[in-house]
Amino acid sequence: MIDRVAARRSLDGLALGDCFGETWFFRPAGQVAWMTAERLVPQGPWRWTDDTAMALPLFDMVTRHGAVRPDDLARRFAETYAEDPHRNYGAGMHDVLRAIGAGEPWPEVTRRQFDGQGSWGNGAAMRVAPLGAGLADDLDLVVEQAALSAKVTHAHPEAVAGAVAVAVAAACSARATPADRLLAEVVAHTPDGEVADRLRRVAELGLAAEPGRVADEVGCGAMISAPDTVPYAVWCAARHLDDLTEALWTTVGPGGDLDTTCAIVGGIIAARTGLAGVPAQWLDACEPLPI
Ligand SMILES: [Mg+2]
Repeated sequence: MIDRVAARRSLDGLALGDCFGETWFFRPAGQVAWMTAERLVPQGPWRWTDDTAMALPLFDMVTRHGAVRPDDLARRFAETYAEDPHRNYGAGMHDVLRAIGAGEPWPEVTRRQFDGQGSWGNGAAMRVAPLGAGLADDLDLVVEQAALSAKVTHAHPEAVAGAVAVAVAAACSARATPADRLLAEVVAHTPDGEVADRLRRVAELGLAAEPGRVADEVGCGAMISAPDTVPYAVWCAARHLDDLTEALWTTVGPGGDLDTTCAIVGGIIAARTGLAGVPAQWLDACEPLPI
């Protein structure tokens, strides 16, 4: 059974995180440190980026059909890109989405990225939280469908593992799993590899650890890979599972791929909280969703 309400809550949180995170790029480090310490947000408008652009067709498919249809999803991603390519897509995704849009089969396009290894970027993880929220009553289904959704653009197993981890975290959030159990559930469902190893590491460090220390150990998205992005973001979400605003402040602290780490955090937490408690100033600043 698909829970459309939870999926929509997660999508709204994902878009909020994407918009919020993006506003911190291209600012001097001193200004970011001062503004975050004072809890001052930049003036709007805050524009959403590729994270939200790709989450929208995936959300639509999952809430309509309860499942991912890979060929259709690849086509929808390519169409969404062609309609509005200026959403800060990752460098490799321009080639992937143009090739799929030109009619090349997605398994061939995705497999040839990075000299045949496939992309292990964080792009499959950044868009997937609403899928996890919507399918939350069946974690095995969440794992299966998240992997399917990842593979249409990212062939590398680490990118798939990153998407699975975020989807399971969003599902646990929607199921009201306690914060101290969430990381263990995510670890238990994530395929073995670097993403899973770093998730184990953040679980060992615990939710009381200092965010900068955690980011130093496992990364916070500066490499834009799934292993460098997902464990820190899932840890931030678990640390503040009932406080979306505070979670986003924690997420931006160490820097990194901020629109994406914040989109992941927003998608996980809002599956549970919705946008309740988010300041009106933030909501007013965000570019509205086209749905
Ligand atoms: Mg982005």
